[in-house]
Amino acid sequence: MLPIPPLGGGEGVMHYHIRWSNSKIDWQAFRSPAEANASARELARQGETYVVEKFEGKCWRCAQITEFYRQMKTQRGKTK
Ligand SMILES: [Zn+2]
Repeated sequence: MLPIPPLGGGEGVMHYHIRWSNSKIDWQAFRSPAEANASARELARQGETYVVEKFEGKCWRCAQITEFYRQMKTQRGKTK
C-alpha cells in the first residue's frame, strides 16, 4: 500500500497522523480525526494500538512522505 501524498498547501495546514504502537505506516496524513480513525480501524492488526495526533503547519512526517515520493520518482517501478 502506498502512502497518500502530503496534503499540500504546505505550512499552516491542520491535519492528523496516526501513530502506531508497532508499525511503520505512521506517516499518512488525514484531513480529519474521523478519517484517521476510520482508516486506523481498518489497518489495525490484532493487539495493535494507535493514537491519532494533530499536526499543524510544517511536520516531519509530511516531510518524510515528500522525501519518499521523491525517491520513488527517482527509482520508479521497483516496488508496488
Ligand atoms: Zn504531517
